[in-house]
Amino acid sequence: MNRRQFLSIGGGLLILTACRNSEKDFFEKKEYEFPIQLDSNRAIGHLVHSAVSMPVSEIIKTETLVVGGGIAGLSAACSLASNDFMICELGADIGGTSGAITINKSLYTQGAHYDLAYPTNFGNEGLELLEKLNIISFSSINNQWEFIEKQHLIPKQKEEACYINGEMKPTILPKSELRKNMFSLFEVYDNEFPLPTTLIDAKWNHLDKITFFDYLNKYLPITSDFIEAIDYQLLDDYGGTSKQISALAGIHYYKCRPYEEDEKRHVELFSPLEGNYYFIQKMMKKIDAKNLFCNHLVFGLQQQKDTWLVDVLDTKNMTKKSIIAKNVIYAGQKNALKYVHPKSYPTFSDVSYTPWVVINFELDDIILENTKWQNDFMSPDPSFLGFVDSKVQNATKSRVLTVYYCFPDVHHYVVQKFEETHKSIVHDALKKIGLYYGKDVSKHVKKAYVKLLGHAMPLPKPGYMTKTRELVTNNLAFAGVDTGRLPLLFDAMDSGIQATKNIIY
Ligand SMILES: Cc1cc2nc3c(=O)[nH]c(=O)nc-3n(C[C@H](O)[C@H](O)[C@H](O)COP(=O)(O)OP(=O)(O)OC[C@H]3O[C@@H](n4cnc5c(N)ncnc54)[C@H](O)[C@@H]3O)c2cc1C
Repeated sequence: MNRRQFLSIGGGLLILTACRNSEKDFFEKKEYEFPIQLDSNRAIGHLVHSAVSMPVSEIIKTETLVVGGGIAGLSAACSLASNDFMICELGADIGGTSGAITINKSLYTQGAHYDLAYPTNFGNEGLELLEKLNIISFSSINNQWEFIEKQHLIPKQKEEACYINGEMKPTILPKSELRKNMFSLFEVYDNEFPLPTTLIDAKWNHLDKITFFDYLNKYLPITSDFIEAIDYQLLDDYGGTSKQISALAGIHYYKCRPYEEDEKRHVELFSPLEGNYYFIQKMMKKIDAKNLFCNHLVFGLQQQKDTWLVDVLDTKNMTKKSIIAKNVIYAGQKNALKYVHPKSYPTFSDVSYTPWVVINFELDDIILENTKWQNDFMSPDPSFLGFVDSKVQNATKSRVLTVYYCFPDVHHYVVQKFEETHKSIVHDALKKIGLYYGKDVSKHVKKAYVKLLGHAMPLPKPGYMTKTRELVTNNLAFAGVDTGRLPLLFDAMDSGIQATKNIIY
């Protein structure tokens, strides 16, 4: 058991203990006056037990059923030629891990919060969809794809600052000889690691057999400080450390786009207030609202000759529906296939997921010095990944800090514990924000919104990205980042596009 796993076992309580000894306490644990709103989908899954014996109240026929209203499911729906489809999403709203929450009549991210501009070697189908959605356009002057709504770009000087064990630093990975050597080592991969990841040439498959740590350790005289910084970055985007993820995933992280040390090739950073829910909303503009069914949990798939018979629970009205569909695109998390369609589960049984907790703090007009878009935080508690400040995204109505925690894949039940102990993680987050700014911000909080994401992010460990998976069988196609892809918007989108192609041809 490594230190990261150990720290998380107590579901937040140990995190507090671990930090108490090493960091200055700004305030004692106390009862807050502000309300805390908790959002967890876990209980919905448990409704299935009662649904199994319920009579069917409605039979619906459709050509294509899309399971899941995240980026992958909606991209699939946007790519369908016929309008004869329905999307079932178990949540009360669409978005999945690219979801948002309404605070004071504005939307704020409650998950994925940014994307970067797309180089010309990225897959055409994904670029075409983004163009069709009016999100990007090609600039022939600059010879690159650019975001259309420039107001959502984060200015370079406001991008990030980092609190590293008590000191403020401009970047996580400091400029050093070692950093230079790492990028020299990676030169051989120039233009070789695009998105979607399915475009990576098979000649690099051997990099999926070892961990990123073993790869770096083989070629560089790495130091513990350097690895700590690399691990922080990888946790922030992939949910795992260099010892957990493959060299293929690790190199992709640094080679997918020009990395920030190359000032001349600065990559646009796009982060609207609502985060990647922006993309969800753009997709919904292309989808008829009558095709979308929120609060609809798909819990059984059965093949009957050349159609699919699907059990669905309407969780709002507690009624059971039966959907008869020619095609099914399954873009929900694959761990649930154990129950939904056990025959397909072995294709994904190797996938492990990291659980995340996202907390939005609505603040009053507090003045905060040194605030940046992304406020990274490195400390003895590796679960806390820092926070994003809406002020830098030009929020006009409310000031919101969005805090991110990621826990190890082996302890996904950690987030379940927060259903009872969420005050502890709210306290922990405020304490760390206090350390970042050097002052207690808790008295400026108007409300806290805690979102628990159980099986949130697939971990790209060795073997995950190159495993051969049967992604279509008898008009049942699988989409989602957990089909062997990296947990990134472009890969999620492409997985939906490909699933649609797979069932049509
Ligand atoms: C906290 C966090 C931050 C992230 N930040 C970024 C970021 O900044 N940029 C980035 O590119 N990526 C980010 N990611 C990765 C992000 O997950 C992907 O970019 C993408 O949103 C994944 O989309 P998806 O459709 O594959 O999966 P999901 O978003 O997980 O969508 C799956 C959907 O299926 C639904 N569902 C599941 N089972 C059923 C069922 N049985 N019946 C009906 N519905 C069902 C779920 O409720 C969910 O809405 C982040 C991930 C997390 C967890």
